Amino acid sequence: MNTDIFAAHESNVRRYGRSFPTVFTKALGATIQDEAGKSYIDFLVGSGALNYGHNNPSILTPAIEYLAGANILLSLDMYTVAKREFIEVFVDSILKPRGLSYKLQFPGPTGTNANEAALALARKYTGRSSVMAFTNSFHGMSLGSLAASGSASTRKLGGVPRHDVVRVPYDGYPNQAFDSASYIDYVLGDSGSGIEKPAAIILETIQAEGGMNTASATWLREIHRICRKHGVVLIVDDIQAGAGRTGEFFSFEFVKIEPDIVCLSKSLSGSGNPLSMVLIRPDMDVWSPGEHSGTFRGNNLAFVTAEAMCKMWSDRRFTAGVERLACKLQGYLDRLAANVPQCIEEKRGRGLMAGLKCRSQVDIGRLHDIAFENGLLIESSGPNRDVIKILPPITITDHELDRGITILNHALQEQANGNCPSI
Ligand code: PLP
Repeated sequence: MNTDIFAAHESNVRRYGRSFPTVFTKALGATIQDEAGKSYIDFLVGSGALNYGHNNPSILTPAIEYLAGANILLSLDMYTVAKREFIEVFVDSILKPRGLSYKLQFPGPTGTNANEAALALARKYTGRSSVMAFTNSFHGMSLGSLAASGSASTRKLGGVPRHDVVRVPYDGYPNQAFDSASYIDYVLGDSGSGIEKPAAIILETIQAEGGMNTASATWLREIHRICRKHGVVLIVDDIQAGAGRTGEFFSFEFVKIEPDIVCLSKSLSGSGNPLSMVLIRPDMDVWSPGEHSGTFRGNNLAFVTAEAMCKMWSDRRFTAGVERLACKLQGYLDRLAANVPQCIEEKRGRGLMAGLKCRSQVDIGRLHDIAFENGLLIESSGPNRDVIKILPPITITDHELDRGITILNHALQEQANGNCPSI
């Protein structure tokens, strides 16, 4: 496999190419193929950007027709038919059935674009400058998002000081005995705490990059209540956990809270096309016209695929299928964790957003390599990168899921036994 050109010309910063040293060419559903014709099951899915699998025909067919029809592709924030139809379907198929009402902002197309917009809006709305962000959070690679992120190596990027972020403990940090919600409530109400009232609290309901730390329903409800009580904007960064990943469209649906602002990106287009959106409580939409901008706010091909994706959520067979797969995956992972307790400390996550926290003796690099050699793409996260992320497409077939889990099981068994023949 010729990978020389990447090493010769692509920046040293490249990462996934090193983890998976092959050249990929085609993909369908949860299966991705390299130039040599070898197939892999994809549990990485573009780090959560391909929740609906590769080249999902229900999503791509309208896009192919759109492309062939001399339709608008880029439109800044002008009105287009594709955007109008996406908004109609998003409101009717996603917001209304969930009793939600938001204004929609389309910032630049990446996740961090959405978070930057959300943080700026919360600061403008409240007139306050600081935000509260959590231990082990990850919000993106631009300065405002970096400042809100927890990881030391991430925060140090950019080489400038990070101001105006108050770090607070996430649910279960540093351990389950500590009640972080009560702590936050207390410091916000205590004039002696030295902590000024922030504009916003920004959180992920599951901290994907932070190690698949999973907030409980009780904690999320408490944080929601605390935000209301102290007049602080609640921003849910649903960039990785949203758009269906947990088995419901929004990752916070199971707690029945209504965040003030929700950030979506990654799988929002359903196709891997870049698109992001900020959902804003209507009375908080204090933007002046043109105050926040970005060239790539009008990716119409992404509107077309996002519309097709949103329509799927009105199909009861589709939602029942996702629920069934989520149960199946969770059952598999319970058994896996029980089979190799010497490797796995605990299962984390919810729905189809799952993680396995490895014990310290597990050589994660080797585990990835064994999985890769046998045809499975996985990655790990967390401050020590010792949590295996398991993100199958939410549309994965039973056969692909079984195959992926078999390979993962094999890789774990080989770790446990200390040898690694191929299966
Ligand atoms: N927020 C969360 C929760 C993420 O997981 C990510 C990316 O992994 C981002 C924000 C940043 O998204 P992007 O890389 O598209 O800027």
